[in-house]
Amino acid sequence: MFDYATVSHGLYVGGRWQPSSEGRVIEVVDPSTEAVIAVVPDATLADAAAAVNAASKAAAGWRETSPRRRSEILRRCFELMTERAEILAALISLENGKALRDARSEVAYAAEFFRWNAEEAVRISGEFGLAPSGANRNCVLITPWNFPAAMATRKIAPALAAGCTVILKPASETPLTAYALAALYEEAGVPPGVVNVLTTSTPGPVTAAMLADPRVRKLSFTGSTGVGRVLLAEAAKHVISCSMELGGNAPFIVFDDADLEAALDGAMVAKMRNAGEACTAANRLYVQAGIHDAFADGLRKRMAALNVGAGTHTETECGPMITSKAVNKIDRLVQDAVVRGAKVLCGGAIAEGKGYFYPPTVLRDVSADAAMMHEEIFGPVAPIMRFDSEADAIARANDTEYGLAAYIYTRDLAKGMRVASKIESGMIALNHGLMSDPAAPFGGVKQSGLGREGGQKHGVAEFMEAKYIAVTL
Ligand code: NAP
Repeated sequence: MFDYATVSHGLYVGGRWQPSSEGRVIEVVDPSTEAVIAVVPDATLADAAAAVNAASKAAAGWRETSPRRRSEILRRCFELMTERAEILAALISLENGKALRDARSEVAYAAEFFRWNAEEAVRISGEFGLAPSGANRNCVLITPWNFPAAMATRKIAPALAAGCTVILKPASETPLTAYALAALYEEAGVPPGVVNVLTTSTPGPVTAAMLADPRVRKLSFTGSTGVGRVLLAEAAKHVISCSMELGGNAPFIVFDDADLEAALDGAMVAKMRNAGEACTAANRLYVQAGIHDAFADGLRKRMAALNVGAGTHTETECGPMITSKAVNKIDRLVQDAVVRGAKVLCGGAIAEGKGYFYPPTVLRDVSADAAMMHEEIFGPVAPIMRFDSEADAIARANDTEYGLAAYIYTRDLAKGMRVASKIESGMIALNHGLMSDPAAPFGGVKQSGLGREGGQKHGVAEFMEAKYIAVTL
């Protein structure tokens, strides 16, 4: 069992660990037992101002630090995260609930952003330059609970590579990983004030105060589309550059000519990574008529066989949801689909007992007007719908305000590429169940967001300004 007492729990501002200026705290709960496992400080407006001051004070020094040195520090962050992968995975599993095997994958993914951006830091081409004022440097980063490590490193690593200083506001449900990583950055040589971490139970006013400070010139947010819209409006008041990684409603399309076993393997990964609590999770499974029944039966068998339990238990394959609210939302979506005619192949009801568990669930014949066709399920529920033609699959896949991720299974590569080009989505996986990769540009279209993270140049470019200098010699 992970000893969370070993994690520093203070606000991390200017390289110092400190309590909230008003002494308030936020409780952190283990979602598998509902027990309070730690308390972290609840940042106030004064703490937010102190964080902006610290980031601003550190900005000049970090900007002047050579790209080679910045690169070496980022590389050290990668090495320390890799050395401590087991400890970090245990912590993520404890506070988020995800199965240890998912937490281990997350740590490897999260660490890779440091290795990748260490390599990017020395290859930022002359096409980019500093803003004339040098001001586009202090960045506010806001992250969700579903990947407590990776959503933070996906922003921090490219920001630091670009020479920016940052203030990270992690989700209140999973702050411990963010603080554990802050200590690790310090050990890797990140100077005081370059990375600051604030937890708060009042994210609206605290973020608004930071964005109103003219020294803050960038907001990078990962979270729900609803909160993203609020933050875009707030940033618009100050014309702040925004990157928005928002919600998804991924279609998973299986054509008759797909390799059935490969499609089932892919569906299990696309649906069940983090027990379905992923923005890229397959939310709607469209299966062509000829393969539909075999696919539905195969998925039912695999989902029903999953081990459900506390994420920290090594045999667990599906951990708890993050909160009771999340469980109730999933159940509302399932019961709504059933009322509209869906058949339950397995699962389908809230599990009894302690912990925020929902059983792996497969539904078939889900109607197009079911709420889960339009809302993120964010849980271990796989709704399967039958389709007939390619045009029908494309039309249904695009019938959503979201456009983050989509999956296609077919043995016909020409068809796969044709369908991929017609699906309105920032990312497509063709005969592939997992698309997240620090080397590829991650992001969505439509209401799924603005900008890209990771990838060759894309991730770093989000933290830079183009500057044009006309010269007469
Ligand atoms: P959320 O409710 O939008 O919260 C995300 C973050 O925003 C949290 O740190 C939250 O703080 C903060 N926040 C909430 N209200 C705010 C406000 N008014 N001003 C400033 N910050 C505010 O999302 P979530 O439930 O944590 O995460 C799940 C969502 O994230 C899903 O929609 C998922 O698809 C999306 N997501 C997207 C990606 C992507 O790359 N596109 C990746 C992962 C997740 P508190 O925790 O303190 O409320």
